[in-house]
Amino acid sequence: MAINSINPGTGETLKKFDALTTAQIEEKLQLAAGTFRNYRHTPMTERAAKMQRVAEILETDKVALGKMMTAEMGKPIKAAIAEAEKCALVCRYYAENAQHHLADQVVETNAQKSYVRFQPLGPVLAVMPWNFPFWQVFRFAAPALMAGNVGLLKHASNVPQCALAIEDIFARAGFPSGAFQTLLIGSDAVEAILNDRRVVAATLTGSEPAGRSVASIAGKQIKKTVLELGGSDPFIVMPSANLDEAVTTAVKARTINNGQSCIAAKRFIVTAGIYDEFERRFVEEMRALKIGDPMEESTDIGPLATPQIVNDLDEQVKRAMASGARVLTGGRKIEGPGNFYEPTVLVDLDIHAPVSCEEIFGPVATLFRAKDIDEAIRIANGTSFGLGSSAWTNDAKEQLQFIEELEAGSVFINGMVASDPRLPFGGVKNSGYGRELAEFGIREFVNIKTVWINNSHGSTRTDTE
Ligand code: NAP
Repeated sequence: MAINSINPGTGETLKKFDALTTAQIEEKLQLAAGTFRNYRHTPMTERAAKMQRVAEILETDKVALGKMMTAEMGKPIKAAIAEAEKCALVCRYYAENAQHHLADQVVETNAQKSYVRFQPLGPVLAVMPWNFPFWQVFRFAAPALMAGNVGLLKHASNVPQCALAIEDIFARAGFPSGAFQTLLIGSDAVEAILNDRRVVAATLTGSEPAGRSVASIAGKQIKKTVLELGGSDPFIVMPSANLDEAVTTAVKARTINNGQSCIAAKRFIVTAGIYDEFERRFVEEMRALKIGDPMEESTDIGPLATPQIVNDLDEQVKRAMASGARVLTGGRKIEGPGNFYEPTVLVDLDIHAPVSCEEIFGPVATLFRAKDIDEAIRIANGTSFGLGSSAWTNDAKEQLQFIEELEAGSVFINGMVASDPRLPFGGVKNSGYGRELAEFGIREFVNIKTVWINNSHGSTRTDTE
């Protein structure tokens, strides 16, 4: 099987790779298991020094790495370079904080001494998507490796160059071979790897069907999983919001990464009194976006990653129109080479139509009018997803109601949903489970071991359960 790197802006094949054979996968699994036996005992300070070196490489090579991302999956170059910088940030964060996050926690009990110790689990399989081809991988790898695990990356099949470049960065930083390996394989090879006893856990960032598949295979083997899946994030605007800021942020939040972000705002819910003004300005700003070559710094929206994504998006827009939606701008594929789609605004959607609550992965926004905050929250929660949410209001009572009632892994008030190494990231409902980043992320792939000690010359009391 071939794994191809194709420029989504031109359709040109950049490179072709052969998928690993079964024997090559076996070699890599052996190496991972062997490396883990030693690597788990390396001092935290040594791991931290290597992780700092990874950050330095990312910073030094950010332009070349950014160009690679843009060439392979089409994100605008400025965003690609910023992604490399953000990866450096997460490496530094865990290099500096892992020791603290994983320090023994003493607990007073009836034992002479009791505490919680965090120990690595072993080789962890990471199944990753193409949309943030570096960031998704580093936000798994930095904490997992700092905790003493080793990583096996099955990256999306359309970003093999990024996948190999990441493996190379860890090797150049001095991590032992086997601490982080890229497996160039299709998704059909995942099941056998998950069933292999040497692979102890898995994390998947991607679509809901992929998450269901990986979690069910891992579940049968009783292996821990973390799932970061899709989203249909609401962006709610109330009358007290700063409308200028809300509109500009709304456009950015919808079109970031050419609209292909799990935490992109996808459904805009605006209260009646300000709806018409919001709609007018939002459409105006969406129309003004510059579509084109993602290698140009002035480009706002580049090509979508694959022709399939353009077709899926077009099909969703057509379905929305068939169920009564109106197109205020856009609504069509852009002809010519490359996977381009017009920035699109849809209104008058039936809130019960499937397209109103499913994930729309591209520069297509849906606008809804709500009579008040209760209706806005009802619309917002009317999806099977629960990743991020953004609410715009300067009223403290409304802010609290959003924080309490929005069904999502995060609530951003007067701001756009974004990830930050210092804050946990993840979802509820069909957006997945588990958390990445902060101290929560590094504790996903560890054995949280209870240690309880009584020495015979001390207190003799023991309780058994
Ligand atoms: P995808 O099609 O699910 O692919 C993601 C990864 O899963 C790829 O490596 C893919 O491999 C693999 N895969 C697909 N089906 C599989 C299966 N049945 N068994 C094992 N592996 C399988 O998703 P995508 O199109 O790349 O990414 C877009 C989706 O990811 C969106 O839904 C987006 O919201 C979500 N996402 C979520 C987050 C988050 O943090 N919550 C972040 C980013 C993206 P192949 O490429 O070889 O098929």
